[in-house]
Amino acid sequence: MTALVVATSNPDKVREIRELLAGVPYEIKTLAAWPQLAAPDETGRTFEENARAKALSYAAFTGELTVAEDSGLEIDALDGAPGVESARYGGTNATYPEKFLLIYDALRQRRALDSPARFVCALALARGDRVLFEARGTVEGRIAPAPKGEGGFGYDPIFFYPPFNATLAEVGNRKGEVSHRGAAFRKLAAFLATLA
Ligand code: IMP
Repeated sequence: MTALVVATSNPDKVREIRELLAGVPYEIKTLAAWPQLAAPDETGRTFEENARAKALSYAAFTGELTVAEDSGLEIDALDGAPGVESARYGGTNATYPEKFLLIYDALRQRRALDSPARFVCALALARGDRVLFEARGTVEGRIAPAPKGEGGFGYDPIFFYPPFNATLAEVGNRKGEVSHRGAAFRKLAAFLATLA
């Protein structure tokens, strides 16, 4: 079976992506197989730029078919912040509760506590020095009045998804059905079916 490297060192993303790719006829490998590998800098201005750079860098290193993704939360009332800086918002050492406080402070100043927001996931599939496929998925919602829920990861507790009347940290396995990552990786699965 052909190998497909899921090139992310975020264990929460790996867990979600494994579930989303459960049906594809590839042997899923993670970066755990290459422990000596250093993560490339994420200096792109868009999710797409970062996804392409990560996919090409890890594909060159592993020599395998490689998918990488870049994702984050865009809040309309904060002009799209934290966006591509989602992982680093408030500093690399800030915890998620600290990041949430910063966001609620900023939203309070703009009198937009329940601002519309979306999660975005851009992915790129690469082999050798070529990008073979790219896809983007989004999910639209609002900032919740307060963090809620124990599931998911990252900003899920403050992301209210109106069709489920819940935050994405409260919806368990249903997150993948509606999430940005779910949308992007379903497009990838369809493309992989044409490659196999
Ligand atoms: P990066 O793609 O490694 O730059 O990091 C993406 C960051 O965006 C994560 O560390 C989270 O803070 C946030 N993020 C991306 N996807 C999700 C999600 O599904 N739920 C909650 N937060 C997310």
